[in-house]
Amino acid sequence: MVINPLLNLLASLSCSRKKKNKKDVNMSDNLSAQQLLRIRSKLEAVVNEQPGTRQAQSADAALQRMRSGEYGYCIECGEEISAARLAAKPDVALCVDCQALKDEEEDA
Ligand SMILES: [Zn+2]
Repeated sequence: MVINPLLNLLASLSCSRKKKNKKDVNMSDNLSAQQLLRIRSKLEAVVNEQPGTRQAQSADAALQRMRSGEYGYCIECGEEISAARLAAKPDVALCVDCQALKDEEEDA
């Protein structure tokens, strides 16, 4: 039987990705399903209304993270991003600490 190499790669990627433990489903700091829906429609609006822009790319990336269940976690360190930060900037991909580091790098 021939194994599709792409499928194989995808499977290994999703396995190696660190899974967040789901013990605290009701974390008070977490976004509610309702907030998440609101954020998602905001992101979709940006993608639809400003196609090709940086904002749209960033919003699209956030939507993809939502689909893969990674939304709300820093893409650098995996820390949870606060609900307030996400509400203010729905396409944010970095926690406050990583964002500060990145800003320093960009200034340098
Ligand atoms: Zn971080």
